[in-house]
Amino acid sequence: MENQLLYLASLSKIDQKLDELNDEYGDLPEKVKEQKAKVAELDNLVQETKQILEDVKNFISTSKVTLTELKDKEEKLSKQQFKVRNNKEFDAITKEIEHARFEYNRLTTELRTVNVKEENLLLTLEQQEKELNEAQAELDELLEEEKEISSNQNDELNELNKIKKAIKAKISKKNLEEYKRIRLLHKDAVVLIKKNSCSGCYSNVPPQKIVEIRNNLDHLFYCEHCGRILYPEEIKIDKKILTITTY
Ligand SMILES: [Zn+2]
Repeated sequence: MENQLLYLASLSKIDQKLDELNDEYGDLPEKVKEQKAKVAELDNLVQETKQILEDVKNFISTSKVTLTELKDKEEKLSKQQFKVRNNKEFDAITKEIEHARFEYNRLTTELRTVNVKEENLLLTLEQQEKELNEAQAELDELLEEEKEISSNQNDELNELNKIKKAIKAKISKKNLEEYKRIRLLHKDAVVLIKKNSCSGCYSNVPPQKIVEIRNNLDHLFYCEHCGRILYPEEIKIDKKILTITTY
């Protein structure tokens, strides 16, 4: 097995760089998610209002037809009234006429209310559509911002991910698991021993341990205080990462 510490330290550096790139998005992904939900909610409202409005319009047009029919019926009955043979027939037709008039008036009143409702719905729809358009415009802006960051980062990300893949291939499965476990706690999972101290938490590393680490570069040693993986100063990463990519 090759120098595991070098690869782990390199992986840690790259993951931190990837974290930094990810941080450039800031709270943008969260904002995009919220704005998408807002747009969907407003769109639902618009669809709902449109549906109600359609029902109202249908009601109005059928009612208009019914009103004409009632008027025709009343006229027809009025003419019939002149041709009756007895009082009984006359009374029956009068009753029918009254009923038609009653229905006509009832529907006319209802139609007035529904017309007002239609006007209100149209105003509501206009307002809702305005809000939806504004929310959509805001979402488009956020998406544009996100796209810009991503296109700026694209080359760098591709390069880093390529290097990361090459480095990961050099690390044993067991060590990789260890690294992942520590990274859940510390973003900088593998740190340099600087001036006999862990550069993650600055606690002292005993000199005999440093000697041991130097002599066992394939073995993992942890900071006794914070649990990060330690590596000695003779491992120079930045230069080595570039070497690894040329493998
Ligand atoms: Zn430490």
